[in-house]
Amino acid sequence: MYKSLAIGSIIFFNALGFSPKSDIAINEEKPMVDSLKTKQYQNPRPKNVILMIGDGMGITQISAGLYMNGNKLNLEKFPVIGLHKTYSGNSLVTDSAAGATAFSCGVKTYNGAIGVDADTFAVQSVLEEADKNGYATGIVSTSTIVHATPASFIAHQKHREMYEAIAADFVKTDIDFFVGGGKKYFDRRNTDERNIYQELEELGYYVSDYFKEDLAACQIPKNKNFAYFTADDDPLPRASGRRYLRLASKMAISYLRNQPEQGFFLVIEGAQIDWGGHSNNSDYIVSEMIDFDKTIGEVLKFAVRDRETLVVVTADHETGGYSILDGSTVGNLKTAFTTDYHTADLIPVFAFGPGARMFSGIYENTAIHDKLRRALGFL
Ligand code: MG
Ligand code: ZN
Repeated sequence: MYKSLAIGSIIFFNALGFSPKSDIAINEEKPMVDSLKTKQYQNPRPKNVILMIGDGMGITQISAGLYMNGNKLNLEKFPVIGLHKTYSGNSLVTDSAAGATAFSCGVKTYNGAIGVDADTFAVQSVLEEADKNGYATGIVSTSTIVHATPASFIAHQKHREMYEAIAADFVKTDIDFFVGGGKKYFDRRNTDERNIYQELEELGYYVSDYFKEDLAACQIPKNKNFAYFTADDDPLPRASGRRYLRLASKMAISYLRNQPEQGFFLVIEGAQIDWGGHSNNSDYIVSEMIDFDKTIGEVLKFAVRDRETLVVVTADHETGGYSILDGSTVGNLKTAFTTDYHTADLIPVFAFGPGARMFSGIYENTAIHDKLRRALGFL
């Protein structure tokens, strides 16, 4: 449907005023690995796989983050780039539930579906398969942990808004580590008398939350799984003081790599790039994009040292029909939006490490699921 074109605000002027020509600065930094002939690209089988999803992160979101971050992003360090087709089973424009279910379960399903196919039958997710096959598993998100993207890796429900049913699905999978908002769907439920927070503790989780202790100060006991709730509902936007994506991702990696399992599968979501798009707010998009990219930098630091970890970064769809109309490489951007919903754009996929080569080319979003399974040795 046609939505009116809203011209976004000019979000930054440098001290010298608006002078695009003198602001064009070329970033000449070399990619971290510029040869695909190195050994780690010959080996298709990583030990660990980290999937990073920037919800609503299209090419323009990446471009705006890049120019507002001094013409530099960690995404530039990836040697392999591909594109995926985002449409869902019932719409050219996907939502995050169908988009994440394509990644997690490999099926094109209807918008709103959480880990179920077009006929509402549950489909095993790659995280569940990894768990069953002796991998440690984890999810970190900046939305509630029961929100569509993280939920699609662990839950099987007909509709994305069945938050309490999704929360109850967390006790059905032996996920080792998760951090996100949404505590109230676990411990103050309306649809039943259960206390899933307590049930997790009874299952041997170390469960904590923002009210009890600081995430940074958490001492996870040995031989315990770990669950931490960063908020009762949706966590704050980055610009309002939320800081945990990088920290929680670092914690997840250091926790998961020290588990006795053969390797780990971790999903990290920068959830609120999408929310900046829905609210047609360039500043919101940019601060979330840069927060996500800083987390990408941390993850890459680990992967470069580890040499046995595949890192895949992508998005489920673009949000906002966002475009950059003017500005410079140092950030004074004039932006516009064509919608407050998602668009059907192709979405980039960035890959680093063993198995990365599989991710070049143009393919369906469901192919990401198949490539992840191949990397984990299930195909
Ligand atoms: Mg999401
Ligand atoms: Zn959205």
